Amino acid sequence: MQKIMNGKSVSDEILAKIKADTEEFAGRGFRPPGLAAVLIGENPASKIYVNSKVKTCASIGFYSEKIEKDENIKFKEVLDLVNELNNREEIDGILIQLPLPEHLPESMILEAVNPQKDVDGFHPHNLGKLFIDEPNMVPCTPLGIMALLKKYGVELKGKNAVVVGRSRIVGKPLSILLLRENATVTICHSRTENLEQITSKADILIAAVGKKAFLTHKHIKEGAVVVDVGINRVTDIEEAKKLYPDNESRWKQVEEKGSTLVGDVFPPAMKDKASLYTPVPGGVGPLTIAGLMMNTFLSYSQRVKK
Ligand code: NDP
Repeated sequence: MQKIMNGKSVSDEILAKIKADTEEFAGRGFRPPGLAAVLIGENPASKIYVNSKVKTCASIGFYSEKIEKDENIKFKEVLDLVNELNNREEIDGILIQLPLPEHLPESMILEAVNPQKDVDGFHPHNLGKLFIDEPNMVPCTPLGIMALLKKYGVELKGKNAVVVGRSRIVGKPLSILLLRENATVTICHSRTENLEQITSKADILIAAVGKKAFLTHKHIKEGAVVVDVGINRVTDIEEAKKLYPDNESRWKQVEEKGSTLVGDVFPPAMKDKASLYTPVPGGVGPLTIAGLMMNTFLSYSQRVKK
């Protein structure tokens, strides 16, 4: 039985559909969808994420702009930039790459984005809309995960879904989306007692903790569907051998490239116990970008038809 949920191929399908829709709009004389990605500072991971988003835009016919600003930019200058982007007709989506440098107030900056162009879905207006069952721009990672579960025909109605992690960008919004599909949802966090007792009853288990291989065999019910959101870097070869005892290609990655990735779930535990699970990489990561493109196209289609 096929056990892996291939996020990359589901993402490719979503992107191909958006590309075709974009071409259809172009055929009717409309401009392309536009995304502005704002990158502040020198965070190497942020640079990789922004480049990958901009590249994806180009591959599906979107217009995009990468706006890079110095680490020491003043709050007022960021607000002016956001306002300028809010007012530009050809920009449908504004993405402020997180994390921001410490001196910048993240919430105030995210709240300055026009909710209609808030393609990350982090604005309180959009989070509120989600809460009152009128979702519009939904945070990208949860949006992508829901598309994946749907694609693999995972039944959610009446099932026990346990989400480990309650962040504003993953755990909380995903819990609401699962609830909307009539799952019985439990949210766990760092103060949860008896975590294992709760997670081991989950039909659908979501790991969004940010800790290497944190959930193991004892946390997973036999036959559960496991979605591993975590992305953690492993640089130690001995650790890689423990995490991937039967996957020498991962050890080689550490030897040759200096690192490999692991999620928040111990890989052998997913393999042994889950009926379906997402790999890292190639699981949730590509779906986050697909979610961003879905939101950008949604904003675009709402705006050009006005
Ligand atoms: P955060 O650090 O914002 O949140 C982590 C959550 O895990 C918190 O709610 C925290 O609880 C909880 N937690 C921490 N320790 C424990 C514990 N011992 N037991 C139970 N819960 C615990 O992380 P994010 O939600 O932003 O990201 C989670 C992971 O997903 C990271 O590895 C991140 O890199 C990855 N990620 C991947 C994406 C992708 O595209 N694949 C996109 C976004 C994130 P508390 O609230 O009590 O502190």
